[in-house]
Amino acid sequence: MKIAVINAGSSSLKFKLFDMQTQKVLKSINIEHIGEEGAAFSNHHEALESIDIDFLSLDAIGHRVVHGGEEFRESVLIDERVIKIIDKLSSLAPLHNPANLEGILVAKQKAPSTPQIAAFDTAFHSTMPKVAFMYALDYEMYEKYKIRRYGFHGTSHAFISKEAAKILNRDVSELNLITLHLGNGASACAIKSGKSIDTSMGFTPLEGLVMGSRSGDIDPAIVLYMQRELGLSVDEVDKSLNKESGLLGICGENDVRDILNSKDEKAKLALEMMIRRIQKYVGAYMALLGRVDAIVFSGGIGENSSYVREKVLESQMFSGIKFLVIKTNEELEIANECLRVLEK
Ligand code: ADP
Repeated sequence: MKIAVINAGSSSLKFKLFDMQTQKVLKSINIEHIGEEGAAFSNHHEALESIDIDFLSLDAIGHRVVHGGEEFRESVLIDERVIKIIDKLSSLAPLHNPANLEGILVAKQKAPSTPQIAAFDTAFHSTMPKVAFMYALDYEMYEKYKIRRYGFHGTSHAFISKEAAKILNRDVSELNLITLHLGNGASACAIKSGKSIDTSMGFTPLEGLVMGSRSGDIDPAIVLYMQRELGLSVDEVDKSLNKESGLLGICGENDVRDILNSKDEKAKLALEMMIRRIQKYVGAYMALLGRVDAIVFSGGIGENSSYVREKVLESQMFSGIKFLVIKTNEELEIANECLRVLEK
């Protein structure tokens, strides 16, 4: 059985073809700069067209979709209704959902009768209880405008929690875990009996940990101050918080390898800030979970930096808790989700 996974970004398209019997990757293609000046492809259709496979021979195509809102609590078979809802949810993820949808529409043209499945970054966190997903705002903000915490990186947290269960030789539904996806974007997740009960990203991926170029948690009044006192426009504040903050904002670097090798005071500060924020979340999640079977590190930083892992776990509070390092594989998780949906 052959399943292709497509992750379409605003100017990129990542494609992976899996043989599901062996779980081997038969083809992996990353296309960037789509639609940019002088680029090889002017749109997603051309990009997909360039991939040299017979789309009609595929058993299914899985698509990464960032925002599933409150509508999608698990992966679904894509039909006209699903397409309409993903489109409607674009207001919650204006940079992501339209690009994901573009990928779906182009793939549907190439293989109209092949089952296509949407796997949502938010779905794994749909088990968060209301007490975790509500913001303490005017209730109408939730009721009328759906302003609440959704959480992201769900595909990765789901994958690494299942892998952790294999390593621990237990059923995931018996396990309490704290999973840390530490890449350029980063999030922590509290998993109780295999289900997400809290996560650090919120209404958007901006909340939570100190990331490569995102601030993570800040006093929301800073946003008002930037606009009122500094005269920044909405777009300028958006850019500042998402693209010019985090590690990059503090020390001018966002590659943790460079930061670890740097003697610069600001680089040291950025690293300490990132680690401290992770510790705060891990500590909070331990309090929420009561019993923790393992803390799992993943993502480029979590998988590769023993320094960061050791520093995070330095506190006495974490002594005696098992920790695991697991390489995440979001594409394989999406391919497996395709199988699950097809079996249903
Ligand atoms: P993305 O979120 O873009 O998928 P990755 O999961 O690939 O990101 O993680 C990127 C981060 O991982 C970068 O900050 C990079 O510096 C860091 N990283 C990669 N290898 C190492 C390493 N050996 N030591 C420390 N950090 C590393």
